[in-house]
Amino acid sequence: AEGHISITGVSKYFGRHKALDDVSLEIPPGSVTVILGPSGSGKSTLLRAINHLERVDEGFIQIDGDYIGYRRQGDRLYELKEKAILKQRINVGYVFQNFNLFPHLTVLENLIEAPVAHKRLSRRAAVEQAYALLDVVGLRDKADAWSRHLSGGQQQRIAIARALALRPRVILFDEPTSALDPELVGEVLDVIKKLARSGTTLVVVTHEIGFAREVADQVVFMVDGKVVEQGSGDELLNHP
Ligand code: ADP
Ligand code: ADP
Repeated sequence: AEGHISITGVSKYFGRHKALDDVSLEIPPGSVTVILGPSGSGKSTLLRAINHLERVDEGFIQIDGDYIGYRRQGDRLYELKEKAILKQRINVGYVFQNFNLFPHLTVLENLIEAPVAHKRLSRRAAVEQAYALLDVVGLRDKADAWSRHLSGGQQQRIAIARALALRPRVILFDEPTSALDPELVGEVLDVIKKLARSGTTLVVVTHEIGFAREVADQVVFMVDGKVVEQGSGDELLNHP
């Protein structure tokens, strides 16, 4: 199985502030890891580091043995060129708090843009895939809508479909329901639950404890840039 994330001794400074402090974590292929912790504890920085959107100062991150952002030569790591970094990122989908759909494109165009641009699929195959993905997120009837006309929950479901369109090994979710009205949270969590059994590795930063308890194979608590607790959802969230 693909999508094994290995994080080894990662630290990250912003000026003198240590946003990540010697984080080591194994995320098995196909698993669901939920990252919990107070605001400012480094959750988002860790997600960004997994995609090399943030360069780390110590340690390294690997996905299926590849160094993220680097190549190894002898016992040294050399940073990859922008083009090679972008190529690595195709394997890692990212779902943001604020959806980040292309507002000037229809829903369907949002789903076919990336696989065609990256020459993953022909336009025709991408259109076919887009309808299959709309079925996964339950929004086939919105194919021709402008994304900005959808509800926040619908936009986020399309953002998830768009992440799936490149068939990534890993999808990172950064507080995917935090920007939503409470009544729309459930429909987005339901889509993520559905993906939890699809074989894709999911890493979800969220404050939704119920979701973590129900879906997570592994729960990680962060405080002040450190992993302070780590275990199964049962171990960490069910004791009285
Ligand atoms: P969380 O996602 O847990 O809320 P973050 O990873 O966003 O935490 O932030 C961790 C710490 O790093 C916070 O103290 C935050 O203010 C700081 N931080 C994050 N990004 C930057 C940045 N680009 N420049 C300076 N400080 C940052
Ligand atoms: P195919 O993969 O043969 O083109 P599918 O209709 O099974 O046809 O899937 C189309 C796309 O949607 C594929 O990228 C597939 O990985 C993705 N997909 C389908 N069902 C799910 C699901 N339940 N969870 C995640 N991705 C899915």
